[in-house]
Amino acid sequence: MIEAFHHPDSAAPIGEHTMPMEKFQQVADRAAKLSGVRVLSPDPVTREDLLQVHTEEYIRAIETGHPKPLAESQKFPWTPQLYSSVLYTNGAVLAAARSALLHGISAAIASGFHHSCMDHGEGFCTFNGLVVALEKLHRTGAIQTGAVLDLDLHYGNGTASLLQGRSWARALSIYGNDYWDNVCYRDVSTRHHHDGPNHRSIALPAKTDGPYLLEVLEQNLPLLLRPAPPDLLLVQAGADPLRDDPYSPLDLGPADLETRDRLVFEFARRHSIPVAWTLAGGYTRPVEKVVNVHLGTFRAALSVHGT
Ligand SMILES: [Zn+2]
Repeated sequence: MIEAFHHPDSAAPIGEHTMPMEKFQQVADRAAKLSGVRVLSPDPVTREDLLQVHTEEYIRAIETGHPKPLAESQKFPWTPQLYSSVLYTNGAVLAAARSALLHGISAAIASGFHHSCMDHGEGFCTFNGLVVALEKLHRTGAIQTGAVLDLDLHYGNGTASLLQGRSWARALSIYGNDYWDNVCYRDVSTRHHHDGPNHRSIALPAKTDGPYLLEVLEQNLPLLLRPAPPDLLLVQAGADPLRDDPYSPLDLGPADLETRDRLVFEFARRHSIPVAWTLAGGYTRPVEKVVNVHLGTFRAALSVHGT
């Protein structure tokens, strides 16, 4: 049985927006109907959990709405519900990570993490639930090492910045758009991000298709095993590499992304690495196309871990 964590209050009311907030409830409703999936409600993370990763000034801005430029640095209009909603999205990652440690695999039906930095948000990402969850589990002794595999279309700049000084964690970002300071660079041949000692990046050229993506994954997933397999792997199973996505220069269909996810889950299982995934980005309209990709990740997980 795969546990998937979703809280109905995790989608703040932001009105008409590039980010389709309705996708989370739709994914939860459809995942709950899959044999072998149980959808559960996560606890929110605490302020203390956030303070291990983010500055007090930034947390207070998200809570109070002041100063406004900081409270809206992630490019959401601030509302009083924003703070509690992101406590739940981050809580979903922590709950999924704990479930993965117990059962091998789990899902957080949440997103909005990998562009978030220590003292501000970017790109629809308020707090970095990936690092918040890893940090909490590391601090409490549940894990000694942790890793993030970021397969969102966009480079995970926030995660990379937060891993500086956290040598026990590592990240691999395989991306088709570079992203920095709320600017998206569509052509990764003209701007490619620089790696650090514990974060590696692999840029996918425009028109990357399914077979090429799988080749890149097969070649580079072993990076996650060095120097030893991590105690926990968090995966950003982004839906925005889809060829129909307005941001995507890649040539990937829903079946390619489902194959991608199956390969990742097989890799984790082969090396006995507990794995929890998040939905990450996806901006194709209508939203059903995005929901379908996220359901493909569930199907991939079920095909590897059975019921
Ligand atoms: Zn993205």
